[in-house]
Amino acid sequence: MSDEMNFSDEPIDAQQDFDNWEPAPEFAPPPAAGTYQTYLHEIRDAKEFESKNGKRLNATLDLKIIGGQYDERAINWQRVSNMEFKRQNGTQSSLMMDMVKCAGIAQAPRSNKEYYEVLLGLKDRGVGASFKTQIDWRGFCTNCYEVRLMALTGTTSAEAAKAAATPENKKEASKFATKAKNYRAFPTNPNGTKADSFICADCKNEVRAQVNIQRFLP
Ligand SMILES: [Zn+2]
Repeated sequence: MSDEMNFSDEPIDAQQDFDNWEPAPEFAPPPAAGTYQTYLHEIRDAKEFESKNGKRLNATLDLKIIGGQYDERAINWQRVSNMEFKRQNGTQSSLMMDMVKCAGIAQAPRSNKEYYEVLLGLKDRGVGASFKTQIDWRGFCTNCYEVRLMALTGTTSAEAAKAAATPENKKEASKFATKAKNYRAFPTNPNGTKADSFICADCKNEVRAQVNIQRFLP
């Protein structure tokens, strides 16, 4: 026999929004643009893709910040690939290679499989394999993107538009949908902090800050 009859019968309704309930947000407010000490917290996804240089690996990662006012704050859903790019000084690297180098990996991974194993190792070591991450914000209006893409492709649904769009269509729609290019372009709150969302001037939908990795540093 349980003691449930002894539970308090005092109404608790005043302390909860049962009728106006909303699910917990998936995304915490993003940390301000800047450079943070970070570690690899989670590998959400990793898959190979065909590039002009052959098969490359694309990983979707969650990082976490170490120390300071944003201690343990997540930087989620970051796509990091080992597709090479050329720096201005002519040397070649990739965002993934920058990350593993900055985390102190001495031996170059030779394959996508080895890159993935290195990522798993960094995740297991957590704060013990930290590196610096420089981030910025972008305000991207998903609604404007879909509306512009439908107009460019002559389709009537976002799915059809995405299927029919050329890379040029997507580029043009992205340009139109980018309503804030960086952190500084976001509105400032009365208390001086940056607002991490604003109302799109074109379609009146809410645009929330996306965090983009600019570069990794040792
Ligand atoms: Zn919009």
